[in-house]
Amino acid sequence: MNSTNDAVEQVTLYEKWRKIYPLSLYGGWQRWRRVVLSFLVGIYYAGPWLRLDGDPMFWFNLPERKFVFFGVTFFPQEFVLLSWILMMAAFLLFTVTVLAGRVFCGWACPQTVWTLVYFFIEQKVEGERNQRLRLDRGPWNRNRIVRKGIKYILWAGVAFSISFTFVAYFDTPQVLIERILTLSLAGWEWFWLLFLAGASFLFSGVLREQVCFHMCPYARFQSVMFDRDTLIISYDENRGEPRGHRPRRHLEDSPRGGDCVDCKLCVHACPTGIDIRDGLQYQCIACAACIDACNGIMEQLGQAPNLIRYSSQHRDKGEEVTWKRPRLFGYAAVLMAICSGFVFMLTNRVPLELDIIRDRGRLYREHWDGSVENTYQLKIINREETVRQYTLTAEADFPFELKTRKGELVEVQPGKQLTMIADLVAMTDPEQPANRPVHFIVETVGEPHFIVREPSRFLQPSEPRE
Ligand code: SF4
Ligand code: SF4
Repeated sequence: MNSTNDAVEQVTLYEKWRKIYPLSLYGGWQRWRRVVLSFLVGIYYAGPWLRLDGDPMFWFNLPERKFVFFGVTFFPQEFVLLSWILMMAAFLLFTVTVLAGRVFCGWACPQTVWTLVYFFIEQKVEGERNQRLRLDRGPWNRNRIVRKGIKYILWAGVAFSISFTFVAYFDTPQVLIERILTLSLAGWEWFWLLFLAGASFLFSGVLREQVCFHMCPYARFQSVMFDRDTLIISYDENRGEPRGHRPRRHLEDSPRGGDCVDCKLCVHACPTGIDIRDGLQYQCIACAACIDACNGIMEQLGQAPNLIRYSSQHRDKGEEVTWKRPRLFGYAAVLMAICSGFVFMLTNRVPLELDIIRDRGRLYREHWDGSVENTYQLKIINREETVRQYTLTAEADFPFELKTRKGELVEVQPGKQLTMIADLVAMTDPEQPANRPVHFIVETVGEPHFIVREPSRFLQPSEPRE
């Protein structure tokens, strides 16, 4: 609070929430944006229903601890692949940001996608920008109550469809529908259905651009990735200024000269409510709505389009665009390296695992004939969606005998593990160390390249028995 003589000025530290009523635009970039966003929404909704050979294509089956992704089953032991996917996504985002700025925000971010869906409903129920403004500024009469009621009911439907689809990725849609109809949902299912529906309604329906302004960390740090050739949405100041409102017939001989007629349509079209003519701002999500709005006006005035356009800082200053961009090549190189590593791991993935635990009760058992026996507990895990038979063998640089109670050919059900006891028997050899390496080998019958070879130790007494 400042006080000078009798004048008191109050400075508030909190910005008042100003509801934004963006214009609806249909042509230009917005048409392509709708195509992309519809495609993404379609993928999200279709995901849990897609099937491959009768099995779900995407299924995060927590009770059985298996995750089906594009029809391939992964188990928790393979979560390292998930970290690779996350790294790839992060570096893809960084690379795209250096190249095309905040194109992810305006074209693919879930918050933007769902906000457009909620906005579409609002616009259909409450009308275009001016009608919505009139409705909100008018009294709470029957018309307003009915329209708001219908809008919120439809929003709730969208919110529930989003949370239903999300939970269906874990349950499968068929099981989820059955549980809803029989009111037999588990606690976690209730929680996620209600929590996600509420979060979607609040963030994408009510808060909208406030999420981008105040909650999204990416909006804050993405500018550090920009270079002077990053694609940005910018207003051509040289052409547009000095701006001024004037009728079409005076455009040519206007003493003010600039092409911008200060109609403010670009501001009214902006879903974040900013004026792009003030320069690049962190609130800009690169949705290109201002480009379409301005191009519409330029067309009506018979002027060239792209007073607001996709550009770059170099281009804005009339400087030469360069491809010598160390930041871009740095991110792209890391992305390529991670992608190559991921592809290598995926193509060399063996859907089979062998865990070996030595008998902790006794290190070894000595027999009357001078032989020594070591006991191991083996766990063979079948990471495929089909029944598999495996052969078990062992390797060592000394003669031994492998004994198992289940035989050396075993069968393991899909996604299950088989625990078996194996004994290695060898003659005591005082010339050899007390602790020698052995390897157990499990090979898939019919798929010899699916083979694992795990090391263990064979122990014998360090001193021969008297
Ligand atoms: S300034 Fe233009 S591109 Fe940026 S958010 Fe507003 S309308 Fe979209
Ligand atoms: S839409 Fe174009 S002409 Fe109208 S105010 Fe914006 S920049 Fe100026």
